[in-house]
Amino acid sequence: MTKQSINRATYDQVMLPIYSPAEFIPVKGMGSRVWDQQGKSYIDFAGGIAVLALGHSHPALNQALKEQSEQLWHVSNIFTNEPALRLAQKLIDNTFAERVFFANSGAEANEAAFKLARHYAITRHSPYKTKIIAFHHAFHGRTLFTVSVGGQPKYADGFGPKPADIVHVPFNDLDAVKAVMDDHTCAVVLEPVQGEGGVTAATPEFMRGLRELCDKHQALLVLDEVQTGMGRTGKLFAYMNYDVTPDIITTAKALGSGFPLSAMLTTHEIASAMGVGTHGTTYGGNPLACAVGNVAFDLINTPEVLEGVEKRYQWIVDELTVINQTYNVFSQIRGQGLLIGAQLAPQYEGKAKILLGLAAKHGLMMLNAGADVMRFTPSLIITQEELQEGMVALKAAIAEFVKE
Ligand SMILES: *Cc1c(COP(=O)(O)O)cnc(C)c1O
Repeated sequence: MTKQSINRATYDQVMLPIYSPAEFIPVKGMGSRVWDQQGKSYIDFAGGIAVLALGHSHPALNQALKEQSEQLWHVSNIFTNEPALRLAQKLIDNTFAERVFFANSGAEANEAAFKLARHYAITRHSPYKTKIIAFHHAFHGRTLFTVSVGGQPKYADGFGPKPADIVHVPFNDLDAVKAVMDDHTCAVVLEPVQGEGGVTAATPEFMRGLRELCDKHQALLVLDEVQTGMGRTGKLFAYMNYDVTPDIITTAKALGSGFPLSAMLTTHEIASAMGVGTHGTTYGGNPLACAVGNVAFDLINTPEVLEGVEKRYQWIVDELTVINQTYNVFSQIRGQGLLIGAQLAPQYEGKAKILLGLAAKHGLMMLNAGADVMRFTPSLIITQEELQEGMVALKAAIAEFVKE
């Protein structure tokens, strides 16, 4: 196939029909700007799905990948490698954690976390301590275990028997958790800010209450920071916005900043429930991924970048508030740092995808979080010019949206 003959129609002829991608095909990205096959340019407020914390084609990440590609691509976990050890050390030095497991995707990191929580409870306490408490609207990935812990039946149903002993209750409802929590509970699993489920942050009281309940019942507090981790909320990890220490966290998206890489972090004590052969992965901790991850970590974990997240949050919220004074499309603007959700007003409910399409037409790549929420997850270092240009495009899209 020649380059010209590949277009959006090709997708329907060759791909599993599980997505319905935009009509245009991006071919190049720099910073927070992307170009399609026709040379049209877009501002990127999506960053993949909150993946590109440092934008497209960051020179330092390109350099790290190029250098590592000329040294060592892959060795498997039969051997270890320097980039993986270096990155694990950085994660430990900057969090509560003492042990790290690397994988390639958020779902895999969560799968490891859930298996670890179960294995720890079964081997240290009782074979019956297997209950996992999770939340409505939660999203933890697409493997059968992770969709089962996730709180969205549309992703979990239709695949036959699910892993058992998983209970879902409403998010931010401590009494609902109390009602199902007991000594058979091995873990409570949540996203500090629910991402796909509509950009809803856990309240400080809820997070503290969960910690107390977990302590009381010897259960583990597992935080899925796949989306909130690595600076997204203005702290290195979102748990740092709360007065709690988790037992396990997972992270992915921004960890490789575009190169597939994820991690599960825990304490020495919990990690010691696992032994050689208990769990594993072929690619996890791959040198190419970890070489990129090391540089991404160093760039993100600086006061300038982390404080910049808060400034950009304020700017975006202010701009959205002004736009809303004219058009009244949003009923609420919420989130933490550069994970912002704008809830569509009741008369526009269910129409997030339509607004996404109009945004693309006006040169803006955006995301939704469910059918009623527009999601903003730009690069943590998006420039003022890029932000401004994106907002102009969004405003034009909204002007058209309200007329439809
Ligand atoms: C994206 C996401 C996942 C799944 O990550 P994959 O890399 O797609 O497997 C899990 N949990 C949360 C909170 C996410 O945002």
